[in-house]
Amino acid sequence: MLYFDHNAKAPLSPRARAVWLDAQERYPANAASLHRLGQRADRALEEARETLAGLLGARAAGLVFTSGATEAANTVLAHLAQSARTAGEAHPGIWVSAIEHPCVLEAAERWFPGRVRRLGVDARGVLELGELSAGAAGGERPAGVVVMAANNETGVLQPWRAVLAWARDRGVPLVCDATQWVGRLPAEGLGECDFVLGSGHKCGGPVGTGFLHCGTGGLRPLLVGGAQEEGRRAGTQNVAGSLALVAALEECGGRLGEVEARLGRRERFEAGLRADLGARILGEGAERLWNTVLLLPPELGDCRQRWVVRLDAAGVAASSGSACASGREEVSHVLEAMGVSRGEAGRALRLSVGWEGPDWEEAGGRLREILRKWGGRG
Ligand code: PLP
Repeated sequence: MLYFDHNAKAPLSPRARAVWLDAQERYPANAASLHRLGQRADRALEEARETLAGLLGARAAGLVFTSGATEAANTVLAHLAQSARTAGEAHPGIWVSAIEHPCVLEAAERWFPGRVRRLGVDARGVLELGELSAGAAGGERPAGVVVMAANNETGVLQPWRAVLAWARDRGVPLVCDATQWVGRLPAEGLGECDFVLGSGHKCGGPVGTGFLHCGTGGLRPLLVGGAQEEGRRAGTQNVAGSLALVAALEECGGRLGEVEARLGRRERFEAGLRADLGARILGEGAERLWNTVLLLPPELGDCRQRWVVRLDAAGVAASSGSACASGREEVSHVLEAMGVSRGEAGRALRLSVGWEGPDWEEAGGRLREILRKWGGRG
């Protein structure tokens, strides 16, 4: 089976696996325990925190290890809502880009009920910066702005640096969901955002690991009942998992010199798709991750003949935008925000690769095979 679904989950990298196994042997104790074994585990965790801080250009003291990006998103949105309340601000809202991951959108609705402003994107899926000034023109000052670094469906990079400059000038905290960016593009500047979230399993780390960087402003814990992580996240620390997450990110960091070449490969793949299959690339014209292609392949007949199913039969694991065949059609909110029609969104196919494993050439070959078999061009 060729695996093209790294944006959903990347396979555990051999290095992360080795680090995880080694840590189980070396650090059997609870990192909060006062005995030497506990302190040894604690030191290893702090070293990993320093390494991660270096990768993000952040302060180690501002980093909290979490169970993933979903926990980090929930924590930071709860924190922003509670901070605004403490500061006596009357019902401040939160601004989030319309294409954020559901863990951000739903946490925003929970903590800021009825007070979530969704910032629109253009047809390429890039945040419209004018939405910020439009929001501010009404005199509204949000408790925070949430903008992702790279979108998980389209791979489109977002103008988070420009949003950071805007937010700085106005003293508004910026939360950046860097889940799909870290490990794929240089991450140093991200540490300048007020809050940054990331996940281990998108880049070869274990599932159930992630981080939240909370700069200098402090963080109210979402999970209470222990003083771990400087009182910012209760619960026994996942030493082996966090070490493996950082090892995976370091390993990816060693590949970043290949980004240009990878972009070239992705472009050649896309040119082939356009020429041979008549496919359209969603998000084209925007800067995108080298590892992600969201395409609109030609129709295969009725919508139950889904590309993702054909690809699966042809030995390719990919991902689709919507569940057309189920009858309960749920169109991707990302494609909806980009103005893609429901019919087209139902056909969208996401392929996402990793540093290792099958690349765009293999994907192109299999797509052509399917077209030959099921009719159409190719
Ligand atoms: N944010 C983005 C952009 C994602 O793509 C994902 C997962 O797909 C998440 C957040 C949630 O990450 P986790 O699985 O670590 O909770």
